Formats: sequence, C-alpha cells, structure tokens
Amino acid sequence: MAKILLSTHFDPSRLVLEETLYHCANGYIGVRGCFEEAYPEGTRSVRGSYVNAFYDTHPISHPEKLYGFPETGERMLNVTDAQTIELTVDGESVRLEPGRFDRYERSLDSSLGISSRAFEWSSARGSRVAVEIRRLASLVRPELFAVGYALRALDRAVDVVVTSRLEGEVQNHFDESDPRLSGGAFKGLAVVAVEAEATAAGGELYVQSRTLAREASLGVLSLISVEASPPFRAEATRTATSASLAVAFRLDPGQGFAMTRKNIYVDSDRKGDVRKAAASSARSMAGLGFASLAAEQEAALSGRWSSADAEAEGDEDVSEALRFDLFELMQSAPADERSSVPAKGLSGEGYEGHYFWDAEIYMAPFYRHTDPPAARRMLVYRHSTLGGAREHARVMGQRRGAVFPWRTIAGRECSAYYPSGSAQYHINADIAYSCWKYYEATGDQAFLRDFGAELLFETGRAWVELGHKADGEFRIDAVTGPDEYACIVDNNYYTNAMARFNLLKALEARAILARRFPDALADIDRRIGLENGEEAGWEEAADLMYLPYDAARDITPQDDGFLRRGEWDFEGTPAADYPLLLSHHHLSLRRRQVCKQADAVLAHFLLPGAAAESTVRNSYAYYEKITTHDSSLSYAVFAAMAARLGDAQKAYRYFARTARLDLDDTQGNSKDGIHAANMGGTWLAIALGFGGLATDGGCPSFRPVLPELWRGLRFTIAFRGSTIRLRAARGGGGRVDASLALVSGPGLEVEIYGERRFLEKSLHVAG
Ligand code: BGC
Repeated sequence: MAKILLSTHFDPSRLVLEETLYHCANGYIGVRGCFEEAYPEGTRSVRGSYVNAFYDTHPISHPEKLYGFPETGERMLNVTDAQTIELTVDGESVRLEPGRFDRYERSLDSSLGISSRAFEWSSARGSRVAVEIRRLASLVRPELFAVGYALRALDRAVDVVVTSRLEGEVQNHFDESDPRLSGGAFKGLAVVAVEAEATAAGGELYVQSRTLAREASLGVLSLISVEASPPFRAEATRTATSASLAVAFRLDPGQGFAMTRKNIYVDSDRKGDVRKAAASSARSMAGLGFASLAAEQEAALSGRWSSADAEAEGDEDVSEALRFDLFELMQSAPADERSSVPAKGLSGEGYEGHYFWDAEIYMAPFYRHTDPPAARRMLVYRHSTLGGAREHARVMGQRRGAVFPWRTIAGRECSAYYPSGSAQYHINADIAYSCWKYYEATGDQAFLRDFGAELLFETGRAWVELGHKADGEFRIDAVTGPDEYACIVDNNYYTNAMARFNLLKALEARAILARRFPDALADIDRRIGLENGEEAGWEEAADLMYLPYDAARDITPQDDGFLRRGEWDFEGTPAADYPLLLSHHHLSLRRRQVCKQADAVLAHFLLPGAAAESTVRNSYAYYEKITTHDSSLSYAVFAAMAARLGDAQKAYRYFARTARLDLDDTQGNSKDGIHAANMGGTWLAIALGFGGLATDGGCPSFRPVLPELWRGLRFTIAFRGSTIRLRAARGGGGRVDASLALVSGPGLEVEIYGERRFLEKSLHVAG
C-alpha cells in the first residue's frame, strides 16, 4: 500500500485542504502542496513554505496588560516560494480550470516519499500535452526540496515555455475568526539580494532575505537543470524580490522534456553565511537529477518503514490512514537539535509553528520506539531552551528551576492568554516524562548525563516552590490541566500526578548519576545552584503529593472543584456549536462539567498503576459522557484507554476517528495543517492501546486485544538496541494469540500477557 492518497478528481474547493495533505516535509523544510502553475480564479489557497524554527519576533499587544504578560511573540515564517513553475503552450498559459484537461491524478507515495501530479491539457487550438510533476523534501539532505518536471507533446508540435520562479515577496496568512490561527497578517521577511543566471544546462536563481526584527538570514538557491529536451533557449530575469528562469523550446509530437529543480534552503541560525552555505550544499549535489534523489529518498524511507511499519489487518480504511499518519510523523521528525515538531508539523501556519506539550506526550512515543535519535533531538532541543524556561520561571515568580513556556519556538513564552497558556504548568512534567521514557526505552546513559538529568532536576524543583504543604499534603493550586475548558483550578489530578512522577524520576536520576557519573552530577548541581537539602524537599513533595479522589463515586475528580460544578446541557447544544470554544464564552465553559479533551483519563493512561483499576474504569465512564473532543488530542487517548481496559470495540470507534482525522478533515481545519499530535495518538492507540505495550517494568510487555473487524495487528518497536515485531491474530474461541519476533539486536526479556519470557528469535503465546 504505497500510494496512500490519491485524487483522480479535480475539486477547487478542496485544494486548500489538499495543500496540507500533499505537503512535502523533512523536519527542516515543509512545502505545502500548491500547484506549480497559478490556480483557478478565486480559489482559496495558502501558498506556504516553512523552515522549522526559522521565525521572527513580533510585539504581543494586550489591551489590558498585567505584570508578566509576554511582550514578544515568535512566529514561524512563510518563507521564499520555490514551488512556482509556470507553463505556456503555444502562447497560452496552462491552468486547470478554466482549461481543458483530462487524466488528472494526484498522489502521495509513502514508500517513495514523493508527491506527484499528472494531467493532460489541451490548448485552445487543440494541442495536447501530458504533464507530470513529482516533488520531494529530501530525508537525506535536509536543505533540499526538489521538483522533477516532465512534459510530452501528444499529437502535434507545440511551442513551450517553462518558467521557474523564486519569489521572495511572501507573508504569513491569518484568519481573524479563528484563535488557532495567528492574529493578523504578518510579513517578517524582506528580500536583500536577488541573483538569476542562465547556464548551458538551465540556470541558477538565488533569493536572500532577512527577518525584519531578528535580522536572521535565509538563502534559497534554485538549481535548474534540463535533462531531456530539444534545443532550448534559457533566459534569466530578476525583479526586486524575485528571480525567474524561462526555458523555451519546440516539442515535436511524442517528444518529451524533463528538468529537475533543486531548491536549497539555508538559514543563518544554523549555517552562518547563507550564501556560502547554499553554494557548498549545491556542490554536494552537483550532477544529481530527480531520479537519483528519488532513489536516495526511497532507500531512506525503506529503512524508516522497516522499523516503524504497522498494520490493522483486514481493515483497509484504517490501514491506509495509519500508513498516512505514520508517514506524516516520519516526514515531520526534526532534522536537528535546534527544533522539535510543531503542532502542525511543517504543513501549515496553524499555531504559528509553535511547539507544545503535543511533541513530548503525543509524538515522542512514536519516535522513541521507531526512530530513537529523533526523540533524542527533540529533548536536546528542549535542553537548549532551558535558559528561556528559567527566565520564564522568574517572571512567574519562582526563585528556582525552570518553567517551560506553553508554546514557543526559541524558548520564550508566546502564549498571550495565560489561563490556557502559561497556567499549563504540566508541560514541565510532560517534558520530564518524555526524558524518562526515552531513557527507559533506550538506556542512553550519555543522554541522561548530558541533558536528561538537568531537565529532570530543573523541571522537578519548580514544583516544590509552586505548590505548598497544607494539612500534611502537598497541593498545587491555580494551574490549568490538559482540559482547557477548566482553567485555573486547584489540584488538577493530571498535573499533580505527573509532577509527582517528575520529582520521583529526578531523584532516581540523581541516584544514577551519583553512582555512574559523580563529576557530571556535581557540575549540574553547581550550574543550577542546587541548595543544601533541596532534594529532601523533592522527596517530601512527592511523598505528600495530594491526588484528588472521590470515594463516593470511586473516580478521579479532574480537580478540587470539578465535581461541584453544574452540568453542561449537552442535549440542548446543537451540533453546529461544536467546537464549543468557537461559540461559547470561555467562562460559561469553565462553570460546567464539560471537557475539551482527555485529562484525568490521560493521567491514568500515562501512569498505569497510579490509581486502582476500579477508579480508572469508573473515571473513564464518567469523563466519556462529558468530553466533547473539541481538541484533536482527545480521541486517541479514549481509544487507547478503552483498549487497555479490554473494550476493543469501543476503542475501535474512537480509533477510526483518530486515524482518519486529517484524511476526512473531521475537525474542519486540516487546511491549516496536519494534526500532528493526533497522528502520534494514532500510533499510541495502536501500540500502547491495542498492542498493550508498556515499558515501565524494565522490559517491553504486550497484552494485545483486537476489535471484531481486524484479523490481526502488527507493529514494530525498538527497545534498548533491539527491534521487535509483534503480530497479534485471532486464535480459536475468541482468543487473541501473539507472536513476537526479534528483528535485530540482542535477545531480551519481554512480557506477554503477563508472562515473562526471553526473546531470542521468536515466541508464540496464546492469549
Ligand atoms: C489543545 C492543546 C494543544 C494545542 C496544540 C489545543 O487545542 O487543547 O492541548 O496543545 O491545541 O495542538
């Protein structure tokens, strides 16, 4: 199942959505799937290209500004457009609609990592040409976005001009009516240099820009080489902001033309002198045409799929979606330690290219078990922003430790609305959780020594000051948990339980470092100014941590006041009101028991064993009735948790919504970018939900369950240098049998249906 997306019908109203679905990314660059030639008149489009963590700052205006409100925001920029290639045939511009065309097909191939479009177009005087365009963001060369452009005259000679443009006049898009999009039109880049030159092989275009506030530079170099053509004439032109190369030739019937356009993106944050860096990168790929780049891409992806493939056997719809989601995660994995995965990957401008807790809680599990170096890069990036998190902690009134910003690129708090922004202190524990889980899954001691321990200490110690002791309990007041419809609450269960985990793991990391790397520990303590006896305070806070519990119902209250709030009138709420955040005042949501997303249920999912099983079950049933899933982060958790509780059918219903969320545009906003956290959630539901994967017992353990529709389930995980493949299949009498195979690496202990075994080659266990 390589072609995971296929459109054979041209529908202008879907183009803006398809720009997201067909985008090409590699963790460094992301290019929306816009048509190379212009669109039909009046078509909605967001023509966008992005470089991960390449941003500019802007003032945040607060009509009523209080102390500590962030003054400066960061926004990922829509950068120089290198996807424009215009085509004229016999003097007529080629357009789809108005235009005469046939055999239209668009596809995304997850094995090749290529997005393609093909069509046959007829001119007014009846000349027909076949056009085929293939695009890739190279998973081997992060700076490269390449286009292979081919055409053929079908039945009579035609005069053709193919004009490639590099456009530096770009700006960010916005939508006033949607808080999830940036608040205003934003132009952050100014062109400072334009070059255009025709060569014997084609030509070279270059546009260099500078961000207006930060004065960081971006250089984009387009290398255009004609690979097959009758004799052609190439002409280069420039304007103040763009460079173009027009290649003109005459094609006889049946004759073809092919060119490769390699677009190299470099930014000064990473590379310093961008002109030099672009030239040196160009030399490194001299002579490589689209076919060679495509071969590299396929080889890189085949490696990725062999460690990450997953399938729900017997369920085409879900398997297709799963393949799409996993591919999107692969192409969004950060290419370096300067970045993480934005909420929308690099596919659109929703949430301004910011990183949230989404990265650590929803996406990191996929990476840590299928591409551990990517998971490590995300955490090293967080470590590199500790300075910003310490400053933020001081602004928030804390003397010690770090408080990570709710949304950021370079480390500043960019959330202007603190009730559902800075108040979400749980992000500290989420990062700590991800550090520990990465360490648990990989055993990467050097990571713990150089990055993980400091992250665990600095996030952990912040809780001690943030909370307070009362009546023998440690309480954390005035925070917001994951459920953004219940802002500024006391003792959010998720926050307290995760803070406890954070503190306990900080202490465990201290013990490990004291044993193995005492010098490194002393260095960290000096660097963070650890005070005498501080650790005892961590231990005390963890021991006394108050975890709300309602004995009468045997459930976990989301926070201290939650169960006393009034009920939401679900029956009287029309379907058109959802998501409620777009049609109800925030305060009216805060007064009622209505949840935007999984909160207590998520805590139970992440921290198995922290609450009694009956409490977990009852809580699930309670919150299921009052959760709207207005956040795309919600379904996956309800799916995974239902599977863990043994209800595979219910799990399936939530899972189908999770897996197909962007393909079917069920939230109605996939045009603004993919829901990357939800895609991570798809994997979570497969592996930790249906597969029952857990790693907290020191070895991978599995407890698979299958919904009726599935014949079987398989997925692959990495654990401490070994790769294991699980296949679960329906056995006799409703049983689910499981087989485990060691794909690579040393043999290891595993647990299956509660039974500990040593996996040397393969194992088969009846459920
Ligand atoms: C969710 C947050 C999430 C953010 C970015 C919001 O709608 O409620 O939990 O971090 O989107 O994806």
